[in-house]
Amino acid sequence: MADMALRRDGIEDAPLTVFASGATKKAQNFRRFRGSKRAAESSRGTRMKLPPFDYACPATLAEAVALLAAHGGEAKPLAGGQSLVPMLAFRLAAPALIVDLRKLDALRHIEITDEGVNLGAMVRWKDILEHPRLRQAHPLLVTAVEHVAHYQIRNRGTVGGSLAHADPAAELPGIAVTCDAKIVALGQAGQRIVHAADFFRGPLVTALQPDEIVSEIRFPAWPPARRFGFREFARRRGDFALAAAALFFDAREKKFCNVRVGAVGVADRPLRLAAVERLLEGGEIGKAAIAKAETAASAAVDPPDDIHASGAYRKTLISVMVERALQDAINRGGG
Ligand code: FAD
Repeated sequence: MADMALRRDGIEDAPLTVFASGATKKAQNFRRFRGSKRAAESSRGTRMKLPPFDYACPATLAEAVALLAAHGGEAKPLAGGQSLVPMLAFRLAAPALIVDLRKLDALRHIEITDEGVNLGAMVRWKDILEHPRLRQAHPLLVTAVEHVAHYQIRNRGTVGGSLAHADPAAELPGIAVTCDAKIVALGQAGQRIVHAADFFRGPLVTALQPDEIVSEIRFPAWPPARRFGFREFARRRGDFALAAAALFFDAREKKFCNVRVGAVGVADRPLRLAAVERLLEGGEIGKAAIAKAETAASAAVDPPDDIHASGAYRKTLISVMVERALQDAINRGGG
């Protein structure tokens, strides 16, 4: 513990301090690398940006959960590292222990059943995009993931990392809320299932307890004739959305049925636009409905100003995104 205190104090003294792999411990069936400034200076003298931390790479989910529990909020899981590593580099996070999930193959499944689509937490964006049957099983999900980041990031970034990171402008949390997905969290007390609407609590804040790992997300079944649209506005392709709309409905006798409308990037968490859904539900599919939805979408959100855009601009953007997504859904037809 004294060692640990030294290292963590060192974060303040040495902003560009080093992580180095020192002693390897095999007492348990995971390896632990202990990093310290001193160890790093006595190695090859390479300086790295990350603050020092202990590292564990457990072979089972139970071990991973036990490690998180033992560190009471001072430990963080590592999945693709595409958000966590920048957070470490910018000193927005300085966990005492990193628990690498890379060996947990039990979290890499993609299941398509009559009940819906289940994605393991370690499924990467690339796995979703390249899956031979997923686009048919859940076209809205795959269409949204096409907008996530860039090629390199999609090779590493994961479903569980995106959900746990809870960026209000991220696509997957938005799709999860729009589709009423369920998120499975595994901790020392066992497994619990959290509705996506209850999971995201604010920017980078979720309902996860410190000892919990996201193990899976479950999407309800997608009827083949369902119509959908996803539109996103970002400053460059692959950037986080300034605003995005995800929506779907079933067409019954030329009327909207089972309407869901979600919005990303316009609040501190992904939203369902219930007022727009109510307005469309049961109504005639057509231009008049699109115009009403456009106006209602803007009225339904109250985004703050930030360095990327004013709130007023985002209000306008979301109405345009809803209008275009709805038009796409209508044009697309069923099946
Ligand atoms: P990590 O970085 O490993 O972890 C992120 C957080 O989640 C950490 O707090 C970690 O402790 C926690 N965590 C990870 N896995 C679990 C788990 N199973 N259970 C509990 N906690 C866990 N994302 C988008 O959605 N859209 C974008 O347009 C987009 N653009 C990007 C552009 C750039 C330049 C970069 C660097 C990233 C971008 N991202 C974007 C983020 C990217 O998708 C990340 O991959 C994702 O947010 C986090 O996934 P990860 O597997 O890398 O998680």
